[in-house]
Amino acid sequence: DLSGKTAVITGSNSGIGLGIAWELAEAGADIVLNSFTDTAEDHALAKEIADKTGVKARYIQADMSKGADCRKLVEEAGACDILVNNAGIQFVCPVEDFPADKWDAIIAICLTSNFHTTAAALPMMRKAGWGRIINIASAHGLRAHSDKSAYVAAKHGVVGLTKTVALETAEEAITCNAICPGFVLTPLVEKQIVDLMAKKDLDRDTVVRDLLLDRQPSKDFATIDQIAGSALFLCSSAADQITGTTMSVDGGWTAS
Ligand code: NAD
Repeated sequence: DLSGKTAVITGSNSGIGLGIAWELAEAGADIVLNSFTDTAEDHALAKEIADKTGVKARYIQADMSKGADCRKLVEEAGACDILVNNAGIQFVCPVEDFPADKWDAIIAICLTSNFHTTAAALPMMRKAGWGRIINIASAHGLRAHSDKSAYVAAKHGVVGLTKTVALETAEEAITCNAICPGFVLTPLVEKQIVDLMAKKDLDRDTVVRDLLLDRQPSKDFATIDQIAGSALFLCSSAADQITGTTMSVDGGWTAS
C-alpha cells in the first residue's frame, strides 16, 4: 500500500511513464506527472488518474534536457518518496554522422536528468526516512547495438549511476534500481518501426520480426503493464534489500 507516498515520474504523459503512474496511483500513491509540454491534455491525464483512483495527481511541466528544470520538478512536487526517471528519446544513426545536437539531447534527457532529479530528491527521501529511485534504463544499458551510440552510452551511464546511488544510500531505507526493458510497443518504438519500414523498404511485420524481435528470444514485445508491475514490485517491502541492481524485462535478450 503506497498511500501517503508521492511518486514523481519524469516523461509520463505517454508510454511506459504513464503506465507506471497509473500502476502506482492504483496502489495509493499520489502522482506527479511530467513532460516538457504544457497542454490541456497533459493536465487532463492527471485529472483522469485522480478521478479514477482517488489519489492526488497533478501535472508539472519541466524540460528534462535542462538541469534547472529537473531540480524544479522535484522541488515543486514538494514531496518525492518514489522517483521514477523515465523520460527518454531515441535517435538512430551511424556514429560518424550522428548529429552533435542529438547526442547532447539524448545524454541530457536519458542520463543527466537522472543525476539532477536524484540529487534534488535524496534530501526529501532522507527526511522522510524512506525512498525508492527507479531508473528506466534499457536492454541497451547492458548490450550495445549499432547506430544507437548516444542511447547505448546514456543507458549504460544510467546503470552506473544506479549502482553508485545505491551504494551511497545502502545503509538507509532508500533503494535505487534500474529496470531494463527490451522492446515495448510505445510511441518511441513505433517511430523506429515506421522509420525502418521506409529506410529498408520492408513491411511492418518483417521489420518487427527481423529487425526488432530478432533480439528478443521470446519473439514478443514486453508490455507497459509488465514494466509498471516491475516498478510497483520495487516499491514493495519484498524489495527492501534489492538495491543497485538491474531488472531485465526483455524476453531473454540479455541472456545471451
Ligand atoms: P515514449 O516516447 O512513449 O515516452 C517518452 C516520454 O518522455 C514521453 O512522455 C515524453 O513526453 C517524455 N520526454 C521526452 N523528452 C522529454 C523532455 N525533454 N522533458 C521531459 N519529458 C520528455 O517512450 P517510452 O517507450 O514509453 O519510453 C520511456 C522510457 O523507457 C525511456 O527512457 C526509454 O528509453 C525507455 N525504454 C523504452 C523501451 C521501449 O521499447 N519502448 C525499451 C527500453 C527502454
